[in-house]
Amino acid sequence: MYPYGNAFWASLNTQQMAAVRAKAGASLVIAGAGSGKTRTLTYRVAWLLERGIPAKNILLLTFTNKAAREMLERVAALVPQRSNGIWGGTFHSVGNRILRAHAGRIGFRQEFSILDREDQQKMIASLIKEEGLRAADKRFPKAEVLSAIFSLAVNAVGSISAILERHYPYFIVLAEQIERIATLFRRRKYEANSMDFDDLLSKPLELLEGCKDIAEFYGEKFSHILVDEYQDINQLQSKFVERLAARHGNIMAVGDDAQSIYSWRGAHFKTILDFPKRHPGASIFRIETNHRSTPEILSVADIVICANKNQFKKTLAAVRPSRGNKPTLASLSTSAEQASFVTERIVGLQEKGVPLGEVAVLYRAHYHSMEVQLEFTRQAIPFSITSGLRFFEQAHIKDVLSFVKFAVNSRDELAFKRMVQLLPGVGTKSAAFLWKEAATLLRRGCNFPPLSKLKIPLKSKRTWSQLTYLLEGSNSSLSSPASLIETILLTIYGDYMKAHFPDYGTRQEDIRTLIAFAQNFENCEDFLSQLALLGAGDTASKTPLSCRPERVTLSSIHQAKGLEWRVVFLIWLAEGMFPNARSLENSEDLEEERRLFYVGITRCKDELYLSYPRSGLGGAYGEVFYSPSQFLRGIPQWIVDRL
Ligand code: ATP
Ligand code: MG
Repeated sequence: MYPYGNAFWASLNTQQMAAVRAKAGASLVIAGAGSGKTRTLTYRVAWLLERGIPAKNILLLTFTNKAAREMLERVAALVPQRSNGIWGGTFHSVGNRILRAHAGRIGFRQEFSILDREDQQKMIASLIKEEGLRAADKRFPKAEVLSAIFSLAVNAVGSISAILERHYPYFIVLAEQIERIATLFRRRKYEANSMDFDDLLSKPLELLEGCKDIAEFYGEKFSHILVDEYQDINQLQSKFVERLAARHGNIMAVGDDAQSIYSWRGAHFKTILDFPKRHPGASIFRIETNHRSTPEILSVADIVICANKNQFKKTLAAVRPSRGNKPTLASLSTSAEQASFVTERIVGLQEKGVPLGEVAVLYRAHYHSMEVQLEFTRQAIPFSITSGLRFFEQAHIKDVLSFVKFAVNSRDELAFKRMVQLLPGVGTKSAAFLWKEAATLLRRGCNFPPLSKLKIPLKSKRTWSQLTYLLEGSNSSLSSPASLIETILLTIYGDYMKAHFPDYGTRQEDIRTLIAFAQNFENCEDFLSQLALLGAGDTASKTPLSCRPERVTLSSIHQAKGLEWRVVFLIWLAEGMFPNARSLENSEDLEEERRLFYVGITRCKDELYLSYPRSGLGGAYGEVFYSPSQFLRGIPQWIVDRL
């Protein structure tokens, strides 16, 4: 009855099938957690290919690049030979790809650097300093705060003053100075041929809006656009998608408003609810079965999310049968006991043969994971962690990368300054001075500043000649990122690490891992882009590069979106921790916290643990007492087992 053989359709239910076969035009799949939205989107891609749509005409936008890879692998298994050439990835990675081809049209060079959050804040901090703003007024926001304000303004497509009014009313009096820093910041990035993560989203839109030929090219190229996790799209991303789809309107969006958890990045669940308004005549599909969780877990999720007023009501029935166990609600006397509880249970699960890769510990904020990390280390339970400082954000990794960055983009002021400060005798002041000289040479038209001509401190003479040799065009190791890093380690950075870090050995191992990863890339540009994009929100654990044996996942709930495990522990469910204390005064924020809790619960397939400590260490305050989260108080006694 169905084309392409029964095997293709056997793994879809009727509602999913209807969405996969949607007619051309706009369609929206709005359905609860674990209902198979991602699976539906994957099959939709396969179906399009089967119907003869060339792979190069398909654009698949996902929340992480890993998710895109997995979906495309599945597509390749379903329709071999046809799937090569699909563009799939995050908005950031697609934006980067477009910019690498057309950056010249907006005045940038193709080899632009990508600034991570830390680089971005450093640049803003130096502008604040140069303008003397904090010296003049101690209330002036720090670089971290300004970077959040600028980012929100870009992502929500609002003016800075509108963002101040809505989120930072106490800074309105400083609006003029803040705007000035924003303008200087834009200029400084431009001079350094650098873009930050927000630029990777906003500049592609600028290209589409400003260059008719580019808009026409991509409008035609991407005849089919598919977006997963649409509930977390922000105004900027939504505009980008609308612009690309303007010609043909072939866009399929899938998502769940109840899982919208990124308002702090400018997302709003109304964007998914208003999809039909923006696309009159759009087909709407619902899926009302959950294929992931047991009925007992689903009942808890249902009750939790019911308390939210602002939502699109959905019915979601469990397809899977009960396994005879209810979720466990554990109240522990201290936070240390909570960590032991989780550890003991995991040891028990291991003995029962549950692979550790099927277990996750999820939490609201990174610091909630500290005691569990310690306990796991003590008990030798292997884990990987996807919150906190990422592998690529560690100082030694960034140090080494600064050489590579500068080799690729000689206008990269931050990379230059970071790099020269690793040489003996060069501090912030001489780095600034050296950059001034180098920048003058660049302005005079040379493409790469002749490092040997700069006036260097005497102390760094020997290493400086090594640096000059390393980065000069004739050095053959420049062509491959792996050999370049290897040379940096051997000539300059190895000695620096020995002298500066007590844990030299571990750091050296990290750099070895980085070299192994770099071997996958033929040129430094691709290597750097890939690394930067990992920082743009992609999941990246502390040792992301090696092949890891089975490990427990420790993750913030934000980073766990879209994923699933057999066993899930949700920890620190104490009032003020989750929901977060800051959200208690505002009903919209509180609803977002509840959605976050819902996302956490619905990651679980078989066995769910909800826990909170009644006391714990509270920093300077000594011991602090906690009461259970108000979210737990809403769960009836009889649907959980209490411990
Ligand atoms: P989330 O809201 O968390 O993103 P989702 O709606 O995208 O979830 P999927 O991740 O696609 O849901 O699917 C959830 C689980 O259910 C997966 O393990 C998937 O393989 C399974 N699944 C989905 N549809 C079916 C089906 N028709 N038959 C069997 N298993 C299914
Ligand atoms: Mg999904």
